[in-house]
Amino acid sequence: MPKVITRFAPSPTGFLHIGGARTALYNWLFAKRHGGDFLLRIEDTDRARSTEAAISAISSGMEWLGLNWSGDAVSQFERSSRHREVAESLLEKGAAYKCYATAEETAAVRAKAREDGTAFRGDMWRDKTPDAETAARPYAIRLKMPREGSTTIDDLVQGTVTVENTELDDMILLRSDGTPTYMLAVVVDDHDMDVTHVIRGDDHLNNAFRQYQVLSAMGWDIPAYAHIPLIHGPDGKKLSKRHGALGVDAYAEMGFLPEAMRNYLLRLGWSHGDDEIIPTEQAIEWFNLENIGRGPARFDFDKLDNLNAHYLRKMNSEEILPLVKNELEKSVGQALSDIEQKRILRAMPTVAERAKRLPDIVEGASLFCNIRPLSLTEKAANTLSGQEAMIGGVANELAAVTNWTAEMIKAAIMSFAEARDLKLGKVMQPIRAAVTGGAPSGDLVDLLEILGQEEVLGRLSDQAAA
Ligand code: GLU
Repeated sequence: MPKVITRFAPSPTGFLHIGGARTALYNWLFAKRHGGDFLLRIEDTDRARSTEAAISAISSGMEWLGLNWSGDAVSQFERSSRHREVAESLLEKGAAYKCYATAEETAAVRAKAREDGTAFRGDMWRDKTPDAETAARPYAIRLKMPREGSTTIDDLVQGTVTVENTELDDMILLRSDGTPTYMLAVVVDDHDMDVTHVIRGDDHLNNAFRQYQVLSAMGWDIPAYAHIPLIHGPDGKKLSKRHGALGVDAYAEMGFLPEAMRNYLLRLGWSHGDDEIIPTEQAIEWFNLENIGRGPARFDFDKLDNLNAHYLRKMNSEEILPLVKNELEKSVGQALSDIEQKRILRAMPTVAERAKRLPDIVEGASLFCNIRPLSLTEKAANTLSGQEAMIGGVANELAAVTNWTAEMIKAAIMSFAEARDLKLGKVMQPIRAAVTGGAPSGDLVDLLEILGQEEVLGRLSDQAAA
């Protein structure tokens, strides 16, 4: 097999949406799997939509996902003179012809076809020679589609798919204003970029037959095609914003990790037995086109959350902290001190254990910052009501601990409870309420140890009787 070359060819729409991200991932994985190249081409021929911001949204989305491409991103618009050159050469070969129909004439033929219930062929000028006056008019270049036979694509996902050539219209390659159409540009670019495998959404399957005809008219190799079924919502309907049809930037903001996102997108349409957890390294070894599902994939936020939780638990504390530091500082209203950072690093495994997304980490970690006086949840306030004197007593007991270790803290609390003939839980619950304000938390004694004596005594005295 020649060197595998894949490409992702998004039209800049202002963000890298989730379906595009999956297409990009599959192309990237397939290239990596075969030691090939993965290229990026921005299909920016729609000048109104192709703003700098829209283009950079795509590259930053790809970068966040970790999908690096070889060389510079190709701009389709910048290649338009090459597209014109190919249209001219198809004209010379007799595989294309000049169409002098005006927009109004074309619209009329189209309307008539609709009325008659026949297909619009666009072949108004296929067999006509213009008079001198017409020949001076601007013209479009249309492909002379074969009228006999059929076109067959051996799609690596969809299987063998055939259409009768009579179903294909004489499509425009070059508009009368000299601009190339997408149908021409995509074929020329894929050819010039030596693309061997075209992996894209199955909304492009119909285009593939027509693109095939341009390729064969030029005598160029036909790439392998793999048209991936689209993504649907959990209810089986077309993916909407409510379902998760968002840009990858929105997923980053929601606190998902790129690695979890890759794993999720991989499984969203591709499988390896029953494996759910497939880290990227493993995915590169396993990825193939045969295992892409033929049915539409269903987007499922719970699965994404579970994968994210998995990858969060696998990260070490030092890796997680920088991902949440900004948000954490915003939420506590000041920069983290060294002491706070140390506490958070120690608490991180427990905090991450309970988290699904990064904001959960922010919430869990903020408990380890100096945030006195804590605001209490209603439940915590109820637990503490009437316990102010006891909390004061516990604070005194803990103030006497000289060696602030989990063991000594526990011993102090136990001896306090024993001396007053109280069940341990009756003492622990109010302490927890005072020290956490009611926020979710793990083992209490560990929490007290990590917070340090000064902060614990401070939090207790905030709730103790004056
Ligand atoms: N630019 C097209 C799109 O965004 C993709 C073209 C292709 O992959 O061939 O849908």
